[in-house]
Amino acid sequence: MEATFVIVGGGIAGVSCAETLAYYEPNESIILISESSLIKTVTNLLAITQSITSFNIEETTTNSLTNKYQNVNVLNGSLLEINDVENFIIISKNIKINYKYLCLCYGAKPKLIPQAKNNPFVVGIRDTDSVDVFAEKLAKSKKVVIVGNGGIASELVYKIQNTEIEWVIKDNHITATFVDPGASEFFQPSLKKDQKQPDLLEPIPNKRMRYEEDATYKSGAALGPDWYKHFQIKGACELPSSVKIHYKSEVFDILNDDSSEYPIKVILTTGDEIYCNLVVSATGVEPKIEFKTNTNFKLSPSNEIIVNETMKSSIPNIYAAGDCCSAGWEHSKHWFPMKLWTQARQMGNYAAKCMSGDFNKEEVILQDFCFELFTHTTRLFGYKVILLGLYNGQKLDNNYEILFRMTKEHEYAKFILQDGRLQGAVLIGDTDLEETVENLILSQLDLSPYKEDLLNPDVDIEDYFD
Ligand SMILES: Cc1cc2nc3c(=O)[nH]c(=O)nc-3n(C[C@H](O)[C@H](O)[C@H](O)COP(=O)(O)OP(=O)(O)OC[C@H]3O[C@@H](n4cnc5c(N)ncnc54)[C@H](O)[C@@H]3O)c2cc1C
Repeated sequence: MEATFVIVGGGIAGVSCAETLAYYEPNESIILISESSLIKTVTNLLAITQSITSFNIEETTTNSLTNKYQNVNVLNGSLLEINDVENFIIISKNIKINYKYLCLCYGAKPKLIPQAKNNPFVVGIRDTDSVDVFAEKLAKSKKVVIVGNGGIASELVYKIQNTEIEWVIKDNHITATFVDPGASEFFQPSLKKDQKQPDLLEPIPNKRMRYEEDATYKSGAALGPDWYKHFQIKGACELPSSVKIHYKSEVFDILNDDSSEYPIKVILTTGDEIYCNLVVSATGVEPKIEFKTNTNFKLSPSNEIIVNETMKSSIPNIYAAGDCCSAGWEHSKHWFPMKLWTQARQMGNYAAKCMSGDFNKEEVILQDFCFELFTHTTRLFGYKVILLGLYNGQKLDNNYEILFRMTKEHEYAKFILQDGRLQGAVLIGDTDLEETVENLILSQLDLSPYKEDLLNPDVDIEDYFD
C-alpha cells in the first residue's frame, strides 16, 4: 500500500491531523493507522476567547472519518517497524505501507507505580477498557488508595462514591499539577462528600451514540472529558465516601495480607500503613517506542520524540504530535507544553499544516498562534477552572507578585505579575475574567497604576481595559 501522508494513532492528535490534512490536501491519499476500531473526534468546538477553546471528545467508528473524507483510509493495526531509508512502515499482519510523510501520534501509556507489576490489586486508568476494569474492581471495594496528584487523581477523588478513599500525594497540597496551595484550600470543602454536589448524583443519561469496540482489537486512545459519565464509580460501602489525605507521601511497598479484612497493605514512605481493597495509580503517563526503527529518533529524557517548530522529528519526513512528542523549539514566554487534549489537538492540526506546507514547498510556515499562550480549561471538584499563561509562576524564578481574591465556595482568582505586567492567572468558578486576562497577558500592558483595582470586586476590569 502507499499514501502521501500516513498517520499513526487514532487519538485526538492523529485524528485532528488526518482531518486537517484532508482539508488542506483533498487530492492526496491519507492513511490513518488505528489500533482500535474506534477513534476519537473533537465535537462542539467552542471558542471561549481568542486562544481558549472548549470541546467534547467523542468516540466514534472509523467510518465516520472515511465517509466524510474521500481521500482518507483508516487501517486497523499497530505500527511495528519504520524504515526511513526506503520510506515505508510495517504494521500488523505484515502490511507494508510506503509514505512520503509520516506523522507519529501514538500517545503515551500510564506510568504505573513500580509495585503495580503483576499485582491485580493495582490499576491505572487510560482508556475505556481500563475504566471498565477499574469500575468492576471498585464496585467490590470498601477502601481504595489513590496515588497521584494530577487531574485524573483529583477527578477520581471527587467522583468516587460509597468508598473510603485514602489519597496519597507527594506534595504538601492537593491538585499540585494545576493549582497552588491557596486554590487547593479553596477546593477542600468539596472533599466533604456528605454535601452532595448535583453533578455527583446518578450518572447523567448520555444522549450521544456509544459504540462498542470489537474484542479483537487493542484498546484505544486516552479517554474523553466525560469518561466517568458512562460508569458508576461506586464502591461497596453503604455510607457516602470519606477522604483522608496523606501529604508528602509516596508508596514504599505493597504487600498481600490474607489475615486482614482487606487483601492488601500499602506501606507509605512516611511509615503509615493502609489496609485496602484496591490501589489506583494515577501518576502520569510516559510515551514508549514499541516499534523497530533503522535510525534512532532524537528523544527527550522521558522518551518523547523531539520535534522542531514545524513538528518535524530528527528523521526526514517524519513528524510527531500529541502525547508522544516533546516540543523542542524555543517556547514563547507564556507557553509551555503539557500532556492535554487541547495541545494534542493543536499539535495534530499544526503538524498537518506543516506537512502540507513542506509537500507544497512553501518556504515560510508561520507557527500557529496557539503556541503563544498556554491555556487550559477543565473542571476540578465541580468548579470551572481556567488556567492562563504562567499560572503557577512557571519560568519566573520566584520573582513575581501574586494578587488574589477569593469568595469561599464561589470563586477564586489569582493573578501573577512581574514588573507590573500580567504573566498568568488561575480562574476558578464563573469569574468572567478570561478574555480580559488573555488580552492583558498578550499585550503586556504595564498595570502598575491599576494594581490595587485589578481584582477589586467593585471594579469591572473588563470595562477598564476595553
Ligand atoms: C483518565 C484520563 C483523564 C484525562 N483528563 C484530561 C483532562 O481533563 N484534560 C486534558 O486536557 N487532558 C486529559 N487527559 C490527557 C489527554 O487524554 C491526552 O493528553 C490526549 O488524549 C493525548 O492525545 P494523543 O492523541 O496524543 O494520544 P492518545 O489519546 O493516547 O492516542 C494515541 C493512539 O495511538 C494508538 N497507538 C499507540 N501505539 C500504537 C502503535 N504502535 N501503532 C498504532 N497505534 C498506536 C493508541 O491505541 C491510541 O489510539 C486525560 C487522560 C486520561 C487517561
